[in-house]
Amino acid sequence: MRNFALESATAPERAIAAHGPRREASYIAGGTTLIDLIKLDVLRPQNVVDISRLTLDEVERLDDGRLRIGALVTNSELAHHPLVREHYPLLSQAILAGASTQIRNLATTGGNVMQRTRCPYYRDAAAACNRRQPGSGCDALHGVNRMHAVLGVSEACIATHPSDMCVALAALGASLALQGPHGTREIAFNDFHRLPAEHPELEHELADGELITHVTLDTPVVGGGAAYLKLRDRASYEFALASAGAVVAVQDGVIRDVRLALGGVATKPWRAVEAEQALDGQPAAISAYELAAEAALQDAVPREHNAFKIPLARQAIVRALRDGAAASEARQGVQG
Ligand code: SF4
Repeated sequence: MRNFALESATAPERAIAAHGPRREASYIAGGTTLIDLIKLDVLRPQNVVDISRLTLDEVERLDDGRLRIGALVTNSELAHHPLVREHYPLLSQAILAGASTQIRNLATTGGNVMQRTRCPYYRDAAAACNRRQPGSGCDALHGVNRMHAVLGVSEACIATHPSDMCVALAALGASLALQGPHGTREIAFNDFHRLPAEHPELEHELADGELITHVTLDTPVVGGGAAYLKLRDRASYEFALASAGAVVAVQDGVIRDVRLALGGVATKPWRAVEAEQALDGQPAAISAYELAAEAALQDAVPREHNAFKIPLARQAIVRALRDGAAASEARQGVQG
């Protein structure tokens, strides 16, 4: 482990000044990703700015009905927050499907958005990895790629985005508030993570020195029922082979609104837009969900060991849509 300078900040402006526009600097909050990667010699920051004391730890409902979440709200606090459980159950389900209780107690909302891939070649400083060392190649392309992505891939990188929480954010619709050396700005969550294309080392739209201060969720889907289904090798503390998060609003047996996102199969949190379009105005029936699943995976590119993810994701989508629609109809039964 290499030495680095550590500075603690109690205001965003001070943290941003301490970080500066340097690529070799890093923020740290829960540290559940960064410390691992420093120990593995994958990340080598010379300056680390501790932001865990910033007052970005509140969840509040805005006047327009959206929900604003401070970047330092822990994953546990967010999953169990009454407003999240009542109005955004998909987010609660997705967070609780990820990691372990101990990690969720430390990991923060902003840190989860910034989570790095679990590709084993990325985490092995001796392997060729374009994401870690631009231009060095990708050992996953012809190596063991069972856990890797089939959507959004390139010949430079096929790493999956590992977050469960981010699948829910992609489905629900959200924006990120950023603060940096040149002021504040907002960016849609679904525009934040980049596809790898030729430059997998450029993972997101955050400029050097910028800090995520808040995540704001869109207003809840009226009459929506939620379901997050995560398929993995073991039942807990494991990353997804395929996951699907759905919010479905059904009225008189017809789908009136649907949001669908996928995890474990794509290089970024994956909003399944084609599937949503295929479901618009369709009957809430398995046959419609199967057609939507086909649409969602039509551009999938399998590698030697991960072709099984395509039928697995198809099943995850169908079951998440089925369960989301059932939850919507159950809510209406309760309210009626
Ligand atoms: Fe690196 Fe991406 Fe290849 Fe993994 S898949 S080795 S992260 S370039």
